[in-house]
Amino acid sequence: MTPYTLHPARITGRRVETEGIYTFTMRFVDPERRRAYRFQAGQFNMLYAFGVGEVPLSIVSDPAEPGVLEHTIRRAGRVTRVMMGWKVGDVIGVRGPYGTGWPMEAARGRDVIVVTGGLGCAPVVGVVNYIFRRRDEYGALHILHGVKKPDDLLYRERFDAWRRAPRTRVYLTTDRPDKSWRYRIGVVTDLFDELAVDPSAIVMMCGPEVMMRYAAQSLQAKGVADDSIYLSLERRMECAVGLCGHCQYREHFVCKDGPVFSYRTVKALFGTGGL
Ligand SMILES: Cc1cc2nc3c(=O)[nH]c(=O)nc-3n(C[C@H](O)[C@H](O)[C@H](O)COP(=O)(O)OP(=O)(O)OC[C@H]3O[C@@H](n4cnc5c(N)ncnc54)[C@H](O)[C@@H]3O)c2cc1C
Repeated sequence: MTPYTLHPARITGRRVETEGIYTFTMRFVDPERRRAYRFQAGQFNMLYAFGVGEVPLSIVSDPAEPGVLEHTIRRAGRVTRVMMGWKVGDVIGVRGPYGTGWPMEAARGRDVIVVTGGLGCAPVVGVVNYIFRRRDEYGALHILHGVKKPDDLLYRERFDAWRRAPRTRVYLTTDRPDKSWRYRIGVVTDLFDELAVDPSAIVMMCGPEVMMRYAAQSLQAKGVADDSIYLSLERRMECAVGLCGHCQYREHFVCKDGPVFSYRTVKALFGTGGL
């Protein structure tokens, strides 16, 4: 088996999240692969639409149930457009898992602040699920999510369920509200004004880099250390194993040194063009 070995997986479920965004569940066809496969929250798989191409996608299912994989896919271009047509029973190709996961061990016993923007919430769904399954092991959970417009709000029912969970607060905001919007108005970094941040909290973020840069600065101002802030980066990639160089981020490869990095590691590169 090489890092490029593809494993067939059968689609077992298909759910429409919103226009152009679907969540698929799948299981490896080979029972041996199903038994052996393990992943951490925050890692990604390469999913292959046979004859079309392969794309990196975060694993949103729970690492405690590695036999069932879940991926949320947004239609972006050539490959993801074909994936939107996948049906229950179809067989696709999966290789992985790849990359670094979220620091779930370091987070144990601490408050966790999850910050997401736009459609970038897939990588942290796994974190939230992980914490809920082990609720006593973590402190307060604050989930902050900002979208440009109300239609961009995915997982609406998940946010509502999370809001009802013990020691959990959910803050949703948009900068372009419509009449249906019941939550806050503004950009996600405005939410920090109403958040009492324990400086020993650990932060996990994903979304547009400009949002993460401002969020990291606001959190630093509230006393959170650089190495308690983690973020998941997205870059185009082909191999996912640090060979092709597409995802190189100066001396780092997003595919194997990331996608989850500590802010301390990448802050000097943040906002620098042409890396
Ligand atoms: C580690 C990682 C995890 C990801 N997780 C998810 C996920 O859970 N769900 C999801 O829907 N998407 C995720 N993505 C993004 C997804 O891989 C891309 O949308 C996909 O590769 C686009 O392929 P395509 O052939 O459909 O589009 P293309 O035809 O290749 O591109 C369409 C448009 O999207 C842009 N684009 C393509 N790939 C990327 C990228 N990696 N970063 C930024 N812009 C890009 C292109 O520049 C172009 O404008 C992730 C990416 C990475 C690197």
